[in-house]
Amino acid sequence: MRDFQSYLLDLDGVVYRGEQLLPGARELVEWLDATGRQALYLSNNSISTPDEVAEKLSRLGMPHPEGRVLTAGWAACHAIAKRFPGARVFVLGLPSVEHMAEAAGLRVVWRDNADGPIPDVVLSALDRTLTYERLRRALRAIMGGAAFYAVNRDPRLPVEDGFEPGTGAIATALEYASGQQAEIIGKPAPGIVLEAMRQLGALPEDTLMVGDGLDLDIVAGHAAGITTALVLTGLTSAEQAEAATGERRPDLIFPDCATILTQAKEASGASA
Ligand SMILES: [Mg+2]
Repeated sequence: MRDFQSYLLDLDGVVYRGEQLLPGARELVEWLDATGRQALYLSNNSISTPDEVAEKLSRLGMPHPEGRVLTAGWAACHAIAKRFPGARVFVLGLPSVEHMAEAAGLRVVWRDNADGPIPDVVLSALDRTLTYERLRRALRAIMGGAAFYAVNRDPRLPVEDGFEPGTGAIATALEYASGQQAEIIGKPAPGIVLEAMRQLGALPEDTLMVGDGLDLDIVAGHAAGITTALVLTGLTSAEQAEAATGERRPDLIFPDCATILTQAKEASGASA
């Protein structure tokens, strides 16, 4: 592998799984910090704020996460606010997403019922309070002409005892019902990756995207024009990684972050 200067690290399945740090994640970031390289955490998480994710990373023992977390929920609210300043938004998500939308200058409507005119925008996030009534409200808004955004297309989320349905599972239900495609902000769309590189001032040829999902992290990295590395500590098995083709094929495959660190040290010419 080349000597990369900037690392974009996916979280679930790369740095941690549930409340457990994964092998080598902390040591990799410590080495990047110690050698003047950069790391930024890139989360497709649709409901947490960057500060909340930083708190979790800090609690699990990751060094200095504050100010270097980008979440798809935050990026989605800011992308919508940029395109539709002050828009009225129905958020299919938890109060945390509504707060991020309001902080971005949007007006959250249809919170408790579908009173008032059709919202300008529907934002589909991870709604753990999902009910048939909330799905019905979202569908009514989309069919009524609201712009349809989804934070990401995550099919499922790895948790300690298995998986739970992701944001994409909810957004896809609405796409199927409405016959309309959602505009995606998080991975596999390249927008969040490009925003991360902008924040770091990183050059494409010096940047490595590290993820555990072929359809999300690897596709997004390729779309953003950077080198992609898959770790096998999350969504993808070695067999699936080897069989992947086209935009889903990772440039590099590692068992875990510990192995990335070993090879990064070799590539940098340092003694391991
Ligand atoms: Mg992941």
